[in-house]
Amino acid sequence: MEPARTSLPLSRILNQLSAEDRSFIVSLIDKDPLTGVYNRRKFDSDLELVIAMADRANNGTSLLMIDIDHFKRYNDKYGHQQGDDVLRAVTRAIEKSLREYDRPHVYRYGGEEFVVLIPNVTRDQACRIGERIRGNVADHTDVTVSAGISHYKENADDLETLIRYADRALYQAKETGRNRVVLFDPAAPFQIPMNW
Ligand code: GH3
Ligand code: MG
Ligand code: MG
Repeated sequence: MEPARTSLPLSRILNQLSAEDRSFIVSLIDKDPLTGVYNRRKFDSDLELVIAMADRANNGTSLLMIDIDHFKRYNDKYGHQQGDDVLRAVTRAIEKSLREYDRPHVYRYGGEEFVVLIPNVTRDQACRIGERIRGNVADHTDVTVSAGISHYKENADDLETLIRYADRALYQAKETGRNRVVLFDPAAPFQIPMNW
């Protein structure tokens, strides 16, 4: 008997499907099943493209890194199922805050962490969007979020730095009380936390 195939390349499987089935499967591969937004895999493949586009647009691109506050505590108190409902509610609040902007992308980056990529915005506009997200989550869900913002090219000029600076700003948002939005500030003191 022939051994079961375990490693048929994805592209070969996809090429055997109709165009319609193929685009359906590809959309599943790119999406997070719990929240319906894009996943980390898609973020990694989009980022380079968005940055390349930013080089041609008037304004740059902003990256917002958003993390639910004290979510472990929420899960411990209300259970994982209700925690999942909150993740969906936070996703909707983020999307609602973005509707009028130019093709922003929302990704579930990790467990209770989201990334929003907003092309063609200034730093000030990105901060206003971040603040709107924070307010909508606080008003329409049972939790709050903290967010860190970085901007290509106003404070970062490569992908790796863009992510690192948003992460640092998020860390500052947590350190300074949570339920807040912080724009990356190169002058802000930064100590590497013990658990990094
Ligand atoms: P902080 O304000 O510092 O971010 O605290 P936190 O409790 O949110 O952070 P921590 O990293 O300690 O805990 C994250 C929690 O997120 C732990 C885990 O139970 C929860 N979580 C991660 N993914 C999921 C998920 O898919 N569903 C549910 N219900 N909970 C999740
Ligand atoms: Mg987290
Ligand atoms: Mg958290």
